[in-house]
Amino acid sequence: MSSVVFEKPGRVQLAVLPPLALYVHIPWCVRKCPYCDFNSHERNGALPEQAYVQRLVSDIESLLPSVWGRRIASVFIGGGTPSLFSPDSIDALLSAVRARLVLEPGAEITLEANPGTVEAGRFRGFREAGVNRISVGVQSFDRAMLARLGRIHSAAEARRAIDAALASFDNVNLDLMYGLPGQTPDMARADIAQGIACGVPHLSAYQLTIEPNTVFWRERPALPEHDRCADMQVSAEEALAAAGYEHYETSAFAKPGMRCRHNLNYWEFGDYLGIGAGAHGKVSFPDRVTRHERIKQPRDYLEKNTLAGEKTVAPSELPFEFMLNALRLVEGFEVKLFGERAGLPLSTIEAGLEKAEAKGLLERNWRRIRPTPRGQRFLNELLELFLPDRP
Ligand code: SF4
Repeated sequence: MSSVVFEKPGRVQLAVLPPLALYVHIPWCVRKCPYCDFNSHERNGALPEQAYVQRLVSDIESLLPSVWGRRIASVFIGGGTPSLFSPDSIDALLSAVRARLVLEPGAEITLEANPGTVEAGRFRGFREAGVNRISVGVQSFDRAMLARLGRIHSAAEARRAIDAALASFDNVNLDLMYGLPGQTPDMARADIAQGIACGVPHLSAYQLTIEPNTVFWRERPALPEHDRCADMQVSAEEALAAAGYEHYETSAFAKPGMRCRHNLNYWEFGDYLGIGAGAHGKVSFPDRVTRHERIKQPRDYLEKNTLAGEKTVAPSELPFEFMLNALRLVEGFEVKLFGERAGLPLSTIEAGLEKAEAKGLLERNWRRIRPTPRGQRFLNELLELFLPDRP
């Protein structure tokens, strides 16, 4: 059912609209991983690729009036496992995107791929379709860890997938996780070392968290203690820095010039259209910031009106939403970005900034506001200082 909630626009004023990106969600996987709380569903037979691409195209068309004249800076095809779609379907999708939206020259176009679903020919097909960045979900190179995580691939298959991706793309990200059940700091270090040895220009290292509505939530596997996980994070940061990767966001590391532009746009509170089952989007106007959301269940998404909800974000929520993203950036953000993207004066967050400085969680000068190393480590404590007052 479609629900539309309108809030008073309040005092929000955006002099310039932010950059605009496009997120495309493909919601199927070969098997559901026990830790995964994404909108991903086990594939059951052949995927309805054509029908789904048609739905995606009608999503774009429904959004066109809200972004008239704006250009798309990046596209991210995520999931789920988008590499389950054929290169022909990705080609049809990207051609339809180009026919309806203006992409900036050299726009970054990422596709997520999982080992076990891709080989060299498929990567070449994705490149020919216009994809120019691949993100490979590996999570670990340790056989026992891969089995514990319910992954469908071996470490050798993961390495082959990365090599095949690097043969067709300069820009490849590798996702790893740490803090896994039964993982020791040495095992986590070995995973990072193997990730570095693959020669990818971008690496993401996420700490496993147990989320509601997952198998792990019900099973509660024993995870390494908090201090051990913190040690794993520190040793990953050290190893990656020594190998020439810049740590630019809580979990993201890149060789110079290889930061993910699409994700940077989220963290800088830019705009993005969300299309596909369960996708979220954010679109700004001169006097308000809006969010939209699509129906989650792939079957419902394919059969019904796909908009699940649309609302104007209450001005009181915007400071926290901005900080939730921007404080993930190791270098923080330029002072003027808050006014540009949240459309509110900096005085709205002054009390929070002062408290955060007093606690040693944040530092600032006339130009930038950034989390201190302590603020990065205790990010939730820092963010709580910017929560809106609830009645
Ligand atoms: S492959 Fe990725 S999206 Fe799919 S179930 Fe596993 S973690 Fe979730």
